Amino acid sequence: MTGLHTTLARRGLMFILSSPSGAGKTTISRMLLGADDEINLSVSATTRPRREGEIDGIDYHFVTPDKFAAMVEADDFYEWAEVFGNRYGTPKGYIRKGLKEGRDFLFDIDWQGTQQLKQKDDQDVVTVFILPPSLDELRRRLESRATDSEDVIDRRMDRARAEISHWAEYDYVVINDDVDACFVKVREILHAERMKRQRQTGLIPFVRELMG
Ligand code: 5GP
Repeated sequence: MTGLHTTLARRGLMFILSSPSGAGKTTISRMLLGADDEINLSVSATTRPRREGEIDGIDYHFVTPDKFAAMVEADDFYEWAEVFGNRYGTPKGYIRKGLKEGRDFLFDIDWQGTQQLKQKDDQDVVTVFILPPSLDELRRRLESRATDSEDVIDRRMDRARAEISHWAEYDYVVINDDVDACFVKVREILHAERMKRQRQTGLIPFVRELMG
């Protein structure tokens, strides 16, 4: 062991980022995945047909409705939901294995998925909610990025308000008024959570040796 570079075994964590659409969650997720090798996006299973350019096992695990039903029956999902007639779920198996090996998983899911995940495995879950600096700014961002009609934007704003109302269920809340500053804060949260004593599974043998 070389004093300066001691890395102890640790248990991974499930890092959940939620926000209303337009608040910057997707950008922050991408920045995090690009900057940090130890965290990977959780890959969901879905019954939806594969779209052009999507890769099985990378974008989703594409499964038949029968296979999905069997997985639900076997309690193979942390959570699942039906969206626009297709089923989507977070498979437990590979995440459990990854957590044991010290890998982290990033989840880009809404408050309902977050609740379900916490019910299944509260210990390994860290939740972060990203807020827009103001509703005016959120509307401006929604208007600038899409060709949606006023009507669609109004509906997105309603959904955003509903999503924001769940802010108090999260461990951390970060206001995204500057995307780089927001990213730094989110990364600091991830780094600090990795250092939690109960996640550092290598501590007991380390301290045992330390104390001779
Ligand atoms: P898409 O078919 O466009 O890839 O995704 C449609 C919707 O399904 C998105 O709103 C996405 O957030 C949701 N979704 C994707 N994977 C999961 C999952 O594992 N669980 C839940 N609850 N929703 C998911």
